Amino acid sequence: MKPARTRLRLTVRGLVQGVGFRPFIHRLATSLDLAGRVWNDGHGVIIEVEGIPESARSFLLGIESGKPPHAAIHSLEPQWLEPCGLHGFEILPSPTDGRRSALVLPDIATCPDCLREILDPADRRFGYPFTNCTNCGPRFSIIESTPYDRPRTSMKAFPMCGACRAEYADPENRRFHAQPNACPDCGPRLSLVDPSGTALPGDPIESTATALLEGSIVAVKGVGGFHLMARADDPDAVRRLRRRKHREEKPFALLVPDLETTRRMGRIGALEERLLRSPEAPIVLLERAPGADDLIAAEVAPGAPMLGIMLPSNPLHHLLTRHVGVPLVATSGNLSDEPICTDNAEALQRLGGIADLFLLHDRPIVRHVDDSIVRVLLGRETVLRRARGYAPLPVSWKGEAGILATGPQLKNTVAISTEDHVFLSQHLGDLETEPAVEAHEQALDALVRLFDQTPTRVATDLHPDYRSTRTAENAGHPVTCIQHHHAHALACMAENEIESPALAIVWDGTGYGTDGTIWGGEFLRITGDGFERLAHLRPFPLPGGDRAAREPRRSLAGMLHEVGRFELLGDRFSPSEKRLLGDALRKGIGTVTTTSAGRLVDGVTSLLGIRHISHYEAQSATALEFSAAAATGVEPLPVVVDRSRSPWVLDWEPWVVALHDGVERGDDISLLARRFLDSLIDGCVEVARRSGEPRIVLSGGCFQNRLLLEGTVGRLRQAGLQPFWHQRVPPNDGGVALGQIVGASLQKRLPTASSFRPR
Ligand code: ZN
Ligand code: ZN
Ligand code: FE
Repeated sequence: MKPARTRLRLTVRGLVQGVGFRPFIHRLATSLDLAGRVWNDGHGVIIEVEGIPESARSFLLGIESGKPPHAAIHSLEPQWLEPCGLHGFEILPSPTDGRRSALVLPDIATCPDCLREILDPADRRFGYPFTNCTNCGPRFSIIESTPYDRPRTSMKAFPMCGACRAEYADPENRRFHAQPNACPDCGPRLSLVDPSGTALPGDPIESTATALLEGSIVAVKGVGGFHLMARADDPDAVRRLRRRKHREEKPFALLVPDLETTRRMGRIGALEERLLRSPEAPIVLLERAPGADDLIAAEVAPGAPMLGIMLPSNPLHHLLTRHVGVPLVATSGNLSDEPICTDNAEALQRLGGIADLFLLHDRPIVRHVDDSIVRVLLGRETVLRRARGYAPLPVSWKGEAGILATGPQLKNTVAISTEDHVFLSQHLGDLETEPAVEAHEQALDALVRLFDQTPTRVATDLHPDYRSTRTAENAGHPVTCIQHHHAHALACMAENEIESPALAIVWDGTGYGTDGTIWGGEFLRITGDGFERLAHLRPFPLPGGDRAAREPRRSLAGMLHEVGRFELLGDRFSPSEKRLLGDALRKGIGTVTTTSAGRLVDGVTSLLGIRHISHYEAQSATALEFSAAAATGVEPLPVVVDRSRSPWVLDWEPWVVALHDGVERGDDISLLARRFLDSLIDGCVEVARRSGEPRIVLSGGCFQNRLLLEGTVGRLRQAGLQPFWHQRVPPNDGGVALGQIVGASLQKRLPTASSFRPR
């Protein structure tokens, strides 16, 4: 079969104008037999190539290695789009309308030139941890207001010395107008202090390295906040960190000195390698390789099939990892669920019970920016947490300026629109603690200030109890509420640049529905300004509200009650717990009704005996994914869609019954897990085919599951349908703010069900 053509758009920010970049792109594209076009925009270069996906991928990978010597890439965002019939290759004239919306760059990983300097004993910046230049260094985390000039950054406290000033003023110099330019004589400095704040003697980096090697936990102030670090191969140190941070099993992210070591720990393809070394330098989720066991303690990621790994992205991390020489745990410096610490005094206070030592510096962090998380899915970069390196770069659109979106409750991000862009904030976390709510409010203020937009309307979730809904109501502008799953769908459509009509399959944990129940396994027909709920998973009662998300066995209890087989629950609860649970379900006390796909997956994970209690989000879903990945070639179970009802109901009862029988028979659990996932995929495809819509949009946290995403996309294509999924904006709730803006702009005139909020 001839592979389908695809269009790849790359938005490249950096030093890419006037350095021979566009002719280079022309050569690279034509050598790979790709059609396309390239043009300058106000802040960089935009490239589109069209051809077979393999060539487009080679093109993406060939840019960094082949770029002209004076070009420097500060950020490169790929976007896979439907082909639009490009032929030949054109260098388009630059737009002349002169309109330039303010662009604030993200923080950029250390460039090769700066790295060379800090490692060169003869250089005046040898060993200097705040080295940067026009092509690298902090941006978003130090900017107070625009335009981006040193007096409006947290570098204002550091007047440049003569040598730095000369570099800054010299158009031939790599540091010409590099706002955070600094050197050991004039720039920020490190200090290593104990929990009482007393400075320790000696070289801070060397002493920190020694302490880490001896098993200490050190809070390290980085670019966008503090990390808690410990050597990853020391089970005692990692266990101590878990105990002090009250973190039971959730895997820790790793900071690994180099790519060679990373290769031994995780499976790395060409795309993973590009991402690890990219200017964005995110945490890349890698499938664990057997060699990992020799390099890290089991306590780092107990039983987890994936490891989150990043390479050094700032001079301090480069110097520290070189001194330490072994992989380090580098987890956010926070208490569970609070935002990452940014301030020295705050860190000493909040992290005092966790860290043995604090590696501080005297440059204030203006806003916290966490490490981003990405995973390669279907041969594409998928951003799962959008923060350092990505935020606050915009998504392009054409719409109404001045809409402010306050996002959802969990994995909150906020956004603001201009006429041609939607600017998304960095990941702000769950709005469950006061510090998180504060960060959320500050991020809203910052968007308004940095992008110089006066909000005229506010978009938010339909949920009456979300903190973000309250922020919207208090903002003093008209509020439009967008149903949660509708927003998910619109976000995905916006980044794929498609318009309605489409069928959106939105599967996630929970979201407030227009009927006041908890949705999460939705098939929504997206229309001009609203949606129709075409189908959903069969609803079931969920006992124990919030606890259900942490206990897959509770989802199972609700599912079994729904199908009249509560007794199959077995010994997952004590007899007395079971009695209480049975009572609650019968009387409907303390239960909510849900169609959540996330909870359905949880319930089946418990049914299969894979996991009854989760210690962190998605633990059970990940376990199910990896169990299923071990099996192939299974027969899916029958799909039952009741179309006599409106909305249609996709029934999971036959699956649960068959899977239970399989467990009883002693069938291989991997086979059963696979059979379940394949049945979910069949269910999606069946409803999609019946919908009559050719375009199918996949969104929601469930589509972070590789097997579910790959299977659904593949089967939809076989059925002659066109699937679309997330790339730059997370499929999880981190993308909802974008969808809220789109939804509000569509609903300007016609209020629909989505803008009606029952109280
Ligand atoms: Zn540099
Ligand atoms: Zn200096
Ligand atoms: Fe969601």
